[in-house]
Amino acid sequence: MARIDLEHIRHAYGAAPKSADDYALKEVHHVWRDGGAYALLGPSGCGKTTLLNIISGLITPSEGRILFDGQDVTQLAPEDRNIAQVFQFPVVYDTMTVADNLAFPLRNRGMNEADVQKRVRETIEMLDLGAHANRKAQRLTADLKQKISLGRGLVRQDVNAILFDEPLTVIDPHMKWQLRSQLKLVHKQFGHTMVYVTHDQTEALTFADTVVVMYGGEIVQIGTPQELFERPSHTFVGYFIGSPGMNVLPVQADGAGVRLGSHHIPLPKPVGASAGEKIELGVRPEHVRVGREGMAARVSKVEDVGRQKIVRFSLEGQEVVAVLKEDETVPAEPHLSFSPEGIGIYADSWRIGGGSR
Ligand code: ADP
Ligand code: MG
Repeated sequence: MARIDLEHIRHAYGAAPKSADDYALKEVHHVWRDGGAYALLGPSGCGKTTLLNIISGLITPSEGRILFDGQDVTQLAPEDRNIAQVFQFPVVYDTMTVADNLAFPLRNRGMNEADVQKRVRETIEMLDLGAHANRKAQRLTADLKQKISLGRGLVRQDVNAILFDEPLTVIDPHMKWQLRSQLKLVHKQFGHTMVYVTHDQTEALTFADTVVVMYGGEIVQIGTPQELFERPSHTFVGYFIGSPGMNVLPVQADGAGVRLGSHHIPLPKPVGASAGEKIELGVRPEHVRVGREGMAARVSKVEDVGRQKIVRFSLEGQEVVAVLKEDETVPAEPHLSFSPEGIGIYADSWRIGGGSR
């Protein structure tokens, strides 16, 4: 297990990058705590795999350094970094049995055969692969092959870190849930530094104690699931996390508050934005109050989702989504207001002071 320092990492796939847009990874500078369970969350193409492969050594970054427990490993090959990596699609030896596939990383490191057998048995049990242990991998379904891949990542206990790159993509939804819980258990039990890449917020939020949100080649926020939810530092985090996502409404700074169309929304502090910045107000649907007072709005859609309903309003030509309890009613002439503690103000997409918290 190791603490991993990423120092001013940037990466461009093409030669001679000139502008920020030429970099698949713009600037990553932070630390992965020893024994932390991290999720790397972001949409397709935002640079997750690039960052993971830089940590494992499959890619050498164009700029910056990587340290494992203070030691510079930037130029070390993957096999010299002592890391396990599980990829999106199964990597197994078809002609070997399931048990031999799992034993491979251990035998490769020269572990004695008795210990190999013990670890293989434990891994088989953990992943519920007992029925297939002595079958060749060749004939197994994609699900099972991916379980073997996972097993190969988990079988060694002496690794610096285990990296997972969207490892449950080919797994059916029910098994997904099981395996995710299993991984969390493994983390609790052995305390490996784990990095789990996904584009699925549920996966990220259930697996990780720290979620690293990426967008457009940058890390836009690192925090606990609760921090990401309550205090998104970038509008992207606001609408990517949470379902439905945060409302993001264009506003103008206006004295000690902001102006939304014809309405003034008071804030505890004036908005500290510079001239020319795009100012937006972010408020989660859970913080939109619906009643007879506030800003006049029109209902455009109501969806019932179990014990809640999601109501979409039109307010000053903008869509505003509110989440109400199943039994709450919407008045005939609805008015909206925002809970002051739920308001965040954003300048050019980044959260600034002037919100209520
Ligand atoms: P993610 O894993 O988040 O989907 P990637 O790290 O795979 O994102 O990709 C980040 C960006 O780098 C994307 O724009 C992608 O097209 C580009 N990219 C990825 N791999 C290569 C490559 N081998 N050569 C050139 N561009 C690449
Ligand atoms: Mg990827």
